[in-house]
Amino acid sequence: MTLRTQQWLEADRNTVFHASTPLGQYARGELNGRIVTGAEGIRIKDSEGNELIDAFAGLYCVNIGYGRVEMAEALYQQARKLAYYHTYVGHSHEALIELSRRILAKAPAGMSKVYYGLSGSDANETQIKLVWYYNNVLGRPEKKKIIARERGYHGSSVAAGSLTGLPLFHAHFDLPMERIHHTVAPYYYRREDSTMSEQAFSRWCADQLEQKILAEGPDTVAAMIAEPVLGTGGIVPPPAGYWSEIRKVLDQYDILLIADEVVCGFGRLGAEFGSMYYDMRPDLMTIAKGLTSAYQPLSGAIVGEKVWKILEQGTDDWGAIGHGYTYSGHPMGAAAALCNLDIIEREGLVANAESTGAHLQQRMRDTFAGHPLVGECRGIGLLAALEFAADPASRTPLDPALKVGPRIAAACLQQGLIARAMPHGDILGFAPPLVVTPDDIDDIVARTAKAVNRVTDELV
Ligand code: PLP
Repeated sequence: MTLRTQQWLEADRNTVFHASTPLGQYARGELNGRIVTGAEGIRIKDSEGNELIDAFAGLYCVNIGYGRVEMAEALYQQARKLAYYHTYVGHSHEALIELSRRILAKAPAGMSKVYYGLSGSDANETQIKLVWYYNNVLGRPEKKKIIARERGYHGSSVAAGSLTGLPLFHAHFDLPMERIHHTVAPYYYRREDSTMSEQAFSRWCADQLEQKILAEGPDTVAAMIAEPVLGTGGIVPPPAGYWSEIRKVLDQYDILLIADEVVCGFGRLGAEFGSMYYDMRPDLMTIAKGLTSAYQPLSGAIVGEKVWKILEQGTDDWGAIGHGYTYSGHPMGAAAALCNLDIIEREGLVANAESTGAHLQQRMRDTFAGHPLVGECRGIGLLAALEFAADPASRTPLDPALKVGPRIAAACLQQGLIARAMPHGDILGFAPPLVVTPDDIDDIVARTAKAVNRVTDELV
């Protein structure tokens, strides 16, 4: 390691509190760090001169790829014109008005307004507050519980972290908070009854949801929140018929649906939104990541007409809505989002996610079908996962102590490839930038195969 890298890492260990990190191990130097020095297209560079293909687009967010000069120019122009003004009590600006028009034009029918934040977590916090307010206006103060799903990921703040259905985000933080409950994940691969069809499994999931609603009391359940495709919980597309079965149950008990589109939104599945791909018909939608391709932090809570009308009624009776962030509707975020949407449209990146995504899914299946360590290849568009198993035929999981997922991710790094060891289970995730080409995909899959084979050899 160069002296310069050593010095940077030492300074970093002494000063920075990193996300999702074993803090002591990192501070003591037992865990490697990486100083990222630049990025271009689908590749990042580090201070050791390594160049890595980023097959996870940062954290599924740099959809237009790194180093877009057009974006730098748009941000420069916006900073010169108007770097900041707040959006309280009717203050607005051109970029925000134009952005909102464009988001709503892309969104499913019936979406009405966008409330802006800075992260997926804060947008989901907003959704929870809006759902509670909605039911207070309607005179249903008991109807406040929110049902999320096991393995769902919705952020890591207090309420959004409660929605998340991964033990790591709850344990030792005294979460989830009251009013937040979890139903089963639509995880067909891990079904208990191997004879069950996808349709039957979807009905079983809807039945589990209904049982939960009945156990809690339908008059106490306000909303369900879900990602169209489970993301951080394992990259799990829903089984056939899942969303129509779920929608029926929600309609029956007058429960709102919040679609968390933070990963799926703006093209990742090869459709504008996951809600459209699966015909979810949500009442509220959460957007972030792909909205700006992470060139600026920006998120949105999109409110559908049904909820919006009630919010208006509430503020007519009670006064201004008690919700607002200093940086809501930030001009720099809006400028980044507009430039990002221009690039996505001009370069046909949603269509590329569909066609190159289909190539990714096919290459993965062709390469790993029958592999002794690969239980399932799954995904949709440019979102894919390999799930490893001790015995693929019987879907027997690996011993977690072997840490196969993280070992394969580390072996990928040695092949110059970033793929993500998902936090729960031995699952390797892929979510490359939407600018990825079929040749890049071939390269990504070939490097992955080398890494998987290497770890397979170590295990036997
Ligand atoms: N929702 C989903 C589906 C996510 O994947 C994430 C982050 O990965 C979030 C919400 C939280 O977003 P943030 O990390 O910006 O708070």
